[in-house]
Amino acid sequence: MQDLRRHYGANFRILRAGSGQAALDTCKQLKERGDTVALILSDQRMPGMMGVELLEKSIAIYPQAKRALLTAYADTEAAINAINAAKIHYYLTKPWDPPEEKLYPPLDDLLEAWGEGYKPPFDGLRIVGVRWAQRDHEVRDFLQRNRVPYVFLDLEKTPEAVEELKKYKLSDAELPVVMFPTGDPLVQPSQTALAARIGLRVQAAKDFYDLVILGAGPAGLAAAVYGASEGLRTLVVEPQAPGGQAGSSSRIENYLGFPAGVSGEELAKRAYIQATRFGAEFLTQRASSLRSENKYHFVKLADDREVSCQTVLVSLGVDYRKLDIPGIDRFTGAGVYYGAAMTEAMSCADEEVFIVGGANSAGQAAMYFSNYAAKVSMLVRASSLAQGMSKYLVDQISERPNIIVETGTEVVAVDGKERLGCIRLKGPNGEREQLATSMFIFIGAAPKTEWLPSELARDARGFLLTGPQLKTNNALGNWREDRQPFLLECNLPGIFAAGDVRSDSIKRVASAVGQGSMAVQFIHQYLAKL
Ligand SMILES: Cc1cc2nc3c(=O)[nH]c(=O)nc-3n(C[C@H](O)[C@H](O)[C@H](O)COP(=O)(O)OP(=O)(O)OC[C@H]3O[C@@H](n4cnc5c(N)ncnc54)[C@H](O)[C@@H]3O)c2cc1C
Repeated sequence: MQDLRRHYGANFRILRAGSGQAALDTCKQLKERGDTVALILSDQRMPGMMGVELLEKSIAIYPQAKRALLTAYADTEAAINAINAAKIHYYLTKPWDPPEEKLYPPLDDLLEAWGEGYKPPFDGLRIVGVRWAQRDHEVRDFLQRNRVPYVFLDLEKTPEAVEELKKYKLSDAELPVVMFPTGDPLVQPSQTALAARIGLRVQAAKDFYDLVILGAGPAGLAAAVYGASEGLRTLVVEPQAPGGQAGSSSRIENYLGFPAGVSGEELAKRAYIQATRFGAEFLTQRASSLRSENKYHFVKLADDREVSCQTVLVSLGVDYRKLDIPGIDRFTGAGVYYGAAMTEAMSCADEEVFIVGGANSAGQAAMYFSNYAAKVSMLVRASSLAQGMSKYLVDQISERPNIIVETGTEVVAVDGKERLGCIRLKGPNGEREQLATSMFIFIGAAPKTEWLPSELARDARGFLLTGPQLKTNNALGNWREDRQPFLLECNLPGIFAAGDVRSDSIKRVASAVGQGSMAVQFIHQYLAKL
C-alpha cells in the first residue's frame, strides 16, 4: 500500500479493501457516486473470495478499469487462466521488490492505457454529419485511427448538430463539417487538409533521405524503428494512420510478449512513439508513383511533391477484397464496411450487425462488436469456423451468447435506399431475405501495387517478388548487378519489400515486424556497397 501511495498518490486516490466482497461493495458505492476506477489490483489469495473471482465480478461494475492480479509463484497457472476467464490485463508475482523495477513499470503501462480510453468531459473536435454517409464515415475513421478524440453530432439525431450548422451559416449539403474549439470549421475536408489541421505532418522536412518507407503497418513501423535508431535518415509515408491492418485489430492475442493481448491501436501507438523518438519522420500522404534514376529513387506524393532517397522499403500491405455483388458499391460507408471499422461500434449499440468472413480478422471483429451490438451474425462460406480461424478465437466465439454463426452461407444480393436496408442470404436451407443496417466484410485481401513501376517484378496476383523468388520466377531479366539480390530486395536494386505485400508472405504481425526489421540490415549492406 505504501509503495502504491508513494508512486501514485499524487494522481490517484488509492483505496484498500480487506476482502473480495468488501472490494466489490466499495466499487458499487463508487459507481453510485459517479466515480471512476482506473485499476483494480487484487491478491489471488484473500478471505472468502479468490482474486480471480473478484476481478471477474468487477467487470460488470467497471468494465473499463484495468485488472491486475497479484500472485505467489505457485499460483502462476491460475493467473494465466485468469487472462481468459477474468480478462485480467496483467499479473504480478510477489514479492514486487524493488517496486521501481517490478511494480511500477507494468502498472504505469496499465494506467497509461486506461487514461487513453478514459474520456473526461469533452471540449474538443465536433463533427457534424450523418451516420450513413461515406465521406462522414471516412472523416471519423481517419480521426479515430489517428487517436484524435471527437464528438460526432449526427444531423438526423442531435438537435445540437443543427445549431452548430446555423452558427456558421452552413447547410446540410456541406457535410461533413469538422468544428474546432477555435472556430473556423473545415467543410468537407480532404484528408490532407484535415491531417494538416490536426497537426500531422503533410510535407517532408528534407528533400533527400537514406530510406523512404511506403506504408506504416507493422512492417513499415519496425523498419522505421531500426532504420532511424541505426542512423538512417528515415521517412515514413502513410496516408491513413500508423498501424495498417494491425491497427484495425481490436485485440491481437498471438503477438509475442503480450499474454493478455494488445489492441492494434495500442501496438501501433507504441511503435510510432518509438520510431519518432529515434528520429523517423512520418508524413500523412499517399505515395502515388515511384521511379528510379542513377541509383536514386524518387517517390511522388499525392500532392505532387517528390522526395528522393537512396533506398525504398515497400511495405504497402494489402487491402480488403471487395464483395462482388451488383449494386453493393453505393452502400460502401453507408451500412457496408470493409474491415473492422471500429468507429461504427458505438453507433451499432443494441442493433444486429453482420460480419461476412470466417478468418481471424472476422472473428476478432465479431468479438469486438458483440460488446456493443445486441446480436452479431457471422456469415461464413465454409462449412465450419475451424477451417479458417485460430482455435482460441473459435472457442471465444462459441462462448459469446450474442454471436450467431451461420456456416455454408453467402450474401448474394443487397438492397436499400440511401443506405443498406436488407441483404439476401444463400445458405444450406435455400435463400432468404434479411433486414440489415450494418455489414462488415472480411473476405481476404489483395495488394495495392498497380501504381508501382511496371518493371518491378510481381507474382500473378500482384504481390512483390524478392530475393530468391526472383530467380525462381525468372524475374531477374534486367538485373545488372554483379551480386545476388538480398533476401528482401526487389528486382530493382535498392528497392526492398517487407510484410504482407510480398509474394507468399505469412500474413501475421510478427512476420511483418520481423521482415521490416531484417530489411534494414540488408539496406545497410546495400548502402555499404554503393
Ligand atoms: C482485423 C485484422 C485483425 C488481424 N489480427 C491479427 C492477429 O491477431 N495476429 C496477427 O499476427 N495478425 C493479424 N492480422 C494480420 C496482420 O495485421 C497483418 O499481417 C499485418 O498488419 C501486415 O503488416 P504490413 O505492414 O505488411 O501491412 P499493413 O498492415 O497492411 O500496412 C500497410 C500500410 O501501407 C499503407 N499504404 C497503402 N497504400 C499506400 C500508399 N500508396 N502510400 C503509402 N502508404 C500506403 C496502408 O495505409 C497501411 O497502413 C490481422 C489483420 C486484420 C485486418
